Amino acid sequence: MGSFAMNLYELPIHNLHQKRLSGEVTTVEIVQSILKRLENVEEKLHSFITLSEDRHLDLAEKIDHKISQKELIHSLEGMPIAIKDIFSTKGIRTTCASRFLENYVPPFESTATEKLKEAGSLLVGKTNMDEFAMGSSTENSAFGVTRNPWNVDRVPGGSSGGSASAVSSGQSLAALGTDTGGSIRQPASFTGIVGLKPTYGRVSRWGMVAFASSFDQAGPMTRDVEDAAILLQTIAGYDSRDATSLEVDIPDYSQFLNQSIKGMKIGVIKELDLSSCDSEVVRIFQHNIEVLKDAGAEIVEISMPNISDAVATYYVIAPCEASSNLGRYDGVRYGQRAKEISGLLDMYEKSRDEGFGKEVKMRILIGTFALSAGYYDAYYLKAQKVQNLIRSQYHQAFQAVDAIATPVAPTAAYKIGEMINDPLKMYLGDAFTIPANLAGIPGISVPGGFTNNNLPVGFQLLTSHLEEGKLLKIAHCFQQSLQLTKPKMSI
Ligand code: GLN
Repeated sequence: MGSFAMNLYELPIHNLHQKRLSGEVTTVEIVQSILKRLENVEEKLHSFITLSEDRHLDLAEKIDHKISQKELIHSLEGMPIAIKDIFSTKGIRTTCASRFLENYVPPFESTATEKLKEAGSLLVGKTNMDEFAMGSSTENSAFGVTRNPWNVDRVPGGSSGGSASAVSSGQSLAALGTDTGGSIRQPASFTGIVGLKPTYGRVSRWGMVAFASSFDQAGPMTRDVEDAAILLQTIAGYDSRDATSLEVDIPDYSQFLNQSIKGMKIGVIKELDLSSCDSEVVRIFQHNIEVLKDAGAEIVEISMPNISDAVATYYVIAPCEASSNLGRYDGVRYGQRAKEISGLLDMYEKSRDEGFGKEVKMRILIGTFALSAGYYDAYYLKAQKVQNLIRSQYHQAFQAVDAIATPVAPTAAYKIGEMINDPLKMYLGDAFTIPANLAGIPGISVPGGFTNNNLPVGFQLLTSHLEEGKLLKIAHCFQQSLQLTKPKMSI
C-alpha cells in the first residue's frame, strides 16, 4: 500500500506509530487529521451517539513531548479510538442505543476500555449500534441509523455498525466492538475493515452491557491485521470480575505476523450453502481461497453436517439469555422510569414498554416463551443439544485442519430499509458468523475484495479455541498476499 498520497486518518496505527517515532509526523497532526475528518463526515454518517469532550490535542502534545525526550511510549498512546456504546465508560453516558439508558452514566469503567485507557489511547466517542446489540444493520438503534461510508444509502452492518463506520471513514483509527453472533465480523465485512472476535473468555466481559452472556465477546475493529494484534494484546487477559474469563497465558501476538503459511491446512465446509450468497460474494470467496493456495496453504474439504442448524439454534439460545439479562431494566435500578403510573406493576410494564424498541421486545417474548414450563425441553434444551453437536463437529474438524475459511455474510452491505421488515431474512444473514459463537472459537473478517459497485466484502477465517495467534498468522499472510487496493471512498 503506497502511503504517499494518503491522509493520516486513513493509515493504520502501527504505521503512524513508526512515522511519529521517526519524526515524520506528530501525534498532534494525527489527532488533528482525525478530528477534521470527523467534522467533515460525521453529519453524513452518524457513527457516534456521544462524542468525547476530552482535550485530545493537549494530551497529544504531551505525548509528542515524551517522544522528543526519547521516552518509551505504547503504540496506542495518543491514538484516537472509538468505543461501541455497550461498554460502560465511567462518567460518560452509555446508552447501548436504548431509550431505557438514554441518560445512564455508569459509575465504573469496563475492563476492556480501562485497558485501552491505561495504554494511553484517546476516546473519540461512543459509537452507534443496534439496541442492546440485537441486530445486523444498526437500524435498531433508538438514536437513528448509521450510514456506510462506501455508500451512504446502505447500512454499515451491525450490531457494531457505528464502530465499523467510524474506523472505515477515518473518524477513528480503531474501535472496540462486541460479537455475540457476528457483530464485529459482519460490519467489518460491510465496511472494508478487519474485525476480530476472540475466543469466548479471552477478553473480560466485565462492564459490558449483557445481551447473551454465554456468547458475548469484545474485540478489535481495525484498519489491518497488525492493528488487530496490537489491540487484542492490549485488551486480552484474565479478570477475576468476569467468572467466564480464561486464566491462561497471552502470547505475544506480534510474533505471528510476517510468517509463512506454507503447508498449513485450511478447511472449507462441504455443507456450507453458498447458493444463498450473491454471486459476487462467491466470486470473491473463491478468489480468496486461491490466494491462500498461492501462499502455500493446502485446501481441505471438511464436513460439518449441522452447520445449517446454527441460525435456528442461536435464535433460541440468544433470546433466552437476553430475556433473563434484560429483566434488570425495571424502572427501579437502571435508566428510565415511566412518568404516569398507577402502582408497582404498572410502573414495570410502562417503563419496559416505553424503554425498549420493537426488536428487543420481540426477543424478550421469544426468550420468555422458549424458557417457560412445557416449552423449555422442546426449545432451549434442544437448542443446547444442537449447540453441542456443532461444537464437537468443529473439534473434529480442527484435528484435520489449522483453520476454516468461509464468507462472512451472504451479501455485501444492503440498502437502508431493505431488510428491516423481514427479520427472518436478516437473521439468515448471520449464517456464517453464528457458528463460531456457538462453539466459542475465535474468528476474523479480513477485507477480501470489492463488488462491481465498490462495496467491500470480507473473508472469514476461524481457528480452534485460544488460537488467535494462528488466526492472526494466516490472516496477516492473506492480507499481504492479496494486496487489495481499495477504491476511492466517495465521502
Ligand atoms: N445479528 C445477531 C443478532 O441480532 C448478532 C448480534 C451480535 O453479535 N451482537 O443477534
